[in-house]
Amino acid sequence: MLFARPGAGKSTQAALLARHLGVTHLSTGAVLRDEVASGSALGQLIAPVLERGDLVADELVVPVVARRLQAAAGAGGYVLDGFPRDLAQDTALAAQFPGAAQPQVAVLLDVPAEECRRRLLARAAVEGRNDDTPQTIDHRLALFDTDLLPVIERYEQRGILVRVDGEADRQVVTERILARLATP
Ligand code: ADP
Repeated sequence: MLFARPGAGKSTQAALLARHLGVTHLSTGAVLRDEVASGSALGQLIAPVLERGDLVADELVVPVVARRLQAAAGAGGYVLDGFPRDLAQDTALAAQFPGAAQPQVAVLLDVPAEECRRRLLARAAVEGRNDDTPQTIDHRLALFDTDLLPVIERYEQRGILVRVDGEADRQVVTERILARLATP
């Protein structure tokens, strides 16, 4: 699993890693945005939540992730991107997946908040994601500190957290991650 502030390059690295390792890339943000784009009832329900940069309710996210993660684990493995987002989701993950489907390593892609903010504002000008407004960016960055840092500490205590400096070209960052995965 991959942890990072929004804007750190988490999804980019997750996609590259999944391709390199030959496993499924499971991005909860992408799954949720696809749901919105499809216009489904669930999509209509979660669209305003995504736009605010808030977390989608666990009872909606967990079953979707659980289904896909189970399938991916059965098909050789996964890179999990965007889940868990807080301690409750982490607990749900542990409860639903005994043994083999449990994550083997947690990578923290470390990029300071100011650099993330700068990258997200630059991306907003290009991609126009409607949660990349200055106010929503600050809110999402704050949620990383309040909700995700405790999860990261949990993985650190478990001894499976790997910290990688994410302030470099994307190719360099991928190489750094792969090097750290090769030498625990
Ligand atoms: P970022 O990391 O830049 O915020 P993501 O694509 O990971 O981008 O997530 C985009 C949005 O999708 C989040 O702000 C949140 O609204 C929703 N989301 C993603 N993952 C989860 C999750 N595990 N639980 C609840 N909401 C989520």
